[in-house]
Amino acid sequence: MKSQKKIAIVGAGIAGLSCAYELKKAGFNVTIFESEDTVGGRMQTIKKDGLIVDSGADFFVDRYDLLHSYADELGIKWFNAEEGGKHRIIREGKPHYINLSGPLDLLLNFKLLSLRARIRFLWWGLRLKLIRAPLNFFHLSEVRLDLQHIPAATYLREQISPEVADYVADPFTGIMQFHRVDEISAAALFSLMRMMTESGGFNITYTEGGIAAIPQAIAKILSIKTNTEVISVSSSNGIVKVKHNTGYELFDAVVIATTGNITKNILKNIPISAGPMFENLSYAETMTTSFNIPVNLFSDGTHLTYVPFVENSIVSGYDNQIRKSTHLEHNGRSVLNVYLHEDAAKKLRTKTENEIFTTIISELKKVCPEVKKHQSEVKPLFLKYWPLAMPKFRHDYIPDVTKFEKEGQGEGNIYLAGDYLNSPWTEGAARCGKRVAKMIIDRFS
Ligand SMILES: Cc1cc2nc3c(=O)[nH]c(=O)nc-3n(C[C@H](O)[C@H](O)[C@H](O)COP(=O)(O)OP(=O)(O)OC[C@H]3O[C@@H](n4cnc5c(N)ncnc54)[C@H](O)[C@@H]3O)c2cc1C
Repeated sequence: MKSQKKIAIVGAGIAGLSCAYELKKAGFNVTIFESEDTVGGRMQTIKKDGLIVDSGADFFVDRYDLLHSYADELGIKWFNAEEGGKHRIIREGKPHYINLSGPLDLLLNFKLLSLRARIRFLWWGLRLKLIRAPLNFFHLSEVRLDLQHIPAATYLREQISPEVADYVADPFTGIMQFHRVDEISAAALFSLMRMMTESGGFNITYTEGGIAAIPQAIAKILSIKTNTEVISVSSSNGIVKVKHNTGYELFDAVVIATTGNITKNILKNIPISAGPMFENLSYAETMTTSFNIPVNLFSDGTHLTYVPFVENSIVSGYDNQIRKSTHLEHNGRSVLNVYLHEDAAKKLRTKTENEIFTTIISELKKVCPEVKKHQSEVKPLFLKYWPLAMPKFRHDYIPDVTKFEKEGQGEGNIYLAGDYLNSPWTEGAARCGKRVAKMIIDRFS
């Protein structure tokens, strides 16, 4: 009987919650252990000065089928971002808009790149469309094996153009993954780019109540032990022992859904096939800094701005939150989230809040004409440092996960879930949780 099977989930981030939610729907007895006093992990929403701040994950896109289905099931409204939001890349202090009507517009008007680079970029775009193998950004293990092994930067610099690498690919990875293009595989970058450029692919969506609305709603219908830090998980004869800060409990199966480095420490016996994966796993770190701004600071309708590293080594981009939803306005004010390049985040984290905000404002003036013009209207609001912001989907890492998923997942009734398992972003992590739930359901049917 499924209902008699006791399953534990370690970690109430979206991977653990989606796994627990699916198992509960299938009739299992599920307990979740969460070390913090809140759920959601890297999906956090706070309120400050009447403004809503998403300090970790910032937006969804309309390709997030699973999260949208959860929002519908849980009665959470989600909506598309305001129409007409512009995306732009900065070069020599000037914004270049990337909302282009098609290849001809790109060829004639995309002055961010030289004509030669534009032609090479178009050629690459065409090749990307012609790649028949799946480019599934939310499960990179399904992407063609040769692409899993190729570093994107090498491919772009050698086969396309160094300018495309520096002014298009590097800023994209900078703001989307928080690290340089040199540390991402072709499998991950091409899958991300295809998702972003496919028709209807990259329309930003948002849930009422902030990014944390879905994890919080799932948590309400599950049994969660917060402030309970799991110390170790071990298995003997198929029974799994979970040791935590207030004792230990036995389960029929356990899903560890913490970040990979913590998972590695919790696991008493690491499956042989997981060894290389943990050895090659690393995370990009970042700092989200939020500013209180006038709601109409960006009169051109800018939503997201990408700042290439070659342009500014501190600010990697900024996101005008009001474009996500009009709910994000309070008394004529809204929020600007500013992201930092990884090395800058590492250096700044030891400084005081005041020093950090002062540095960022002075850098922002160089890459944001609106902040330069209205600096006195831009006020520090909130900042959060993320030491484990995003797994690095490097060419030497993705194949290791693919191998673990084939050979080690579920060994001794211990399963792993999380974005680091070739499952980027909130949607990838949620899909990973659901995949693992399905394995457990099949195992005990
Ligand atoms: C600044 C930032 C911006 C981002 N922007 C976006 C975005 O715009 N869109 C998007 O889709 N994604 C974005 N992401 C990525 C996204 O947030 C993550 O990929 C996703 O939330 C990962 O979920 P997870 O469940 O795998 O891990 P986590 O959310 O990290 O969850 C792990 C959980 O385990 C708990 N835990 C840890 N150790 C223990 C222990 N010993 N015992 C019990 N519990 C433990 C943690 O407290 C946490 O709750 C962003 C991330 C960051 C940091």
